[in-house]
Amino acid sequence: MTGQGDFPEGEDLSVSLFREYLRLKTVHPDPDYAPPVSYFESFYSRTGLICRVVAIMTWEGTNPTLKSILLNSHTDVVPVYQEHWKYDAFSAFKDAEGNIYARGSQDMKCVTIQYIQAVRRLKAEGRKVMRTVHLMFVPDEEVGGHKGMETFVKHPEFQKLNIGFALDEGLANPGDAFTVFYGERNPWWITIHCPGSPGHGSRFVENTAAEKLRCVINSFLDFRQKEKHRLNTSECFTLGDVTTVNMTMVKGGVAYNVIPAEMDVSFDLRIPPTVNLQEFERQIKEWCKEAGEDVTYEFAQKHMNQNLTSTEENDPWWSAFSAACKAMNITLEKEIFPAATDSRFIRAVGIPAIGFSPMNRTPILLHDHNEYLNEHVFLKGISVFERLISALTSVPAFPDEA
Ligand SMILES: [Zn+2]
Repeated sequence: MTGQGDFPEGEDLSVSLFREYLRLKTVHPDPDYAPPVSYFESFYSRTGLICRVVAIMTWEGTNPTLKSILLNSHTDVVPVYQEHWKYDAFSAFKDAEGNIYARGSQDMKCVTIQYIQAVRRLKAEGRKVMRTVHLMFVPDEEVGGHKGMETFVKHPEFQKLNIGFALDEGLANPGDAFTVFYGERNPWWITIHCPGSPGHGSRFVENTAAEKLRCVINSFLDFRQKEKHRLNTSECFTLGDVTTVNMTMVKGGVAYNVIPAEMDVSFDLRIPPTVNLQEFERQIKEWCKEAGEDVTYEFAQKHMNQNLTSTEENDPWWSAFSAACKAMNITLEKEIFPAATDSRFIRAVGIPAIGFSPMNRTPILLHDHNEYLNEHVFLKGISVFERLISALTSVPAFPDEA
């Protein structure tokens, strides 16, 4: 283990490990993945260096031919605006209430150490698991996962892991309940090109780019208003249940007195997996047509992933997960993840995945200034994972596994 001897006296070892891990600067835009990998090497039996840096630790089950359980976490974190932080964002400062401040304390270095410590505790108790457990540590989630999980799920090393069910990141819940995520919205980044007749700025030129642009903007923002209203008027809707629309870029024009030949507008759309995506694209096409001649669109990103992980009581994985939570008196709130995580790549290759970061009574501070997690919430999460790992590795063999 690294940093031995620096641990504050009387502090729980798990908390010390967590704080130590938070100090490793895996921050974008230039994350250093070497320290976390050597950090994990100090714990585990097996490493793989694939794509950039994927590390895997394996706890072999008593029946290793059965499908395994994946405990996935990413090692990278987003940048900080240090001037807005109360403490150094990489110092893992712990205040008098036990709140640990650091970038990654919620997203998601907490979960990484919780997985490791939960497995260590189970092993220390002499427990055996029937299904194999893989702990996986992946890079680049915060920049889209393209060189991380997206590539790795197609790699033979990944397929060899024979994964049946996966856990990955979730979000904090400010209340007593814990949130679980069984699907995610699809990010669509779209640019609409509005060509028009150029001319002198002193005339009423027909068929201008700006008129078309206005039409396009109105269509998208009217729809935005409707979705916003839907979210705000019904209690049962969370952000994951509606489509968010944001106009993020506008381009065009060269001079005050020249009517431009083209104007472009870009939107960031996040669409729930329950929406008919083909139908939605037809709607966009219609908006473009209504805006005028030759209005076209192009995607910079277009996810079509409509996989939802079953949360039906008769699903063996979900029933093991939810029964373990019930036994701990944990209330679960099921949601669609509002943004994108690596779970989408896992679900896309047919593996059910639940997003779960056990942090209740905690404000949602991922990517925010002064991200923190209380040490007691962190420690409770280790016990939660102990129970979950026991439950998930005990899911009886399926007929096709025999
Ligand atoms: Zn994350």
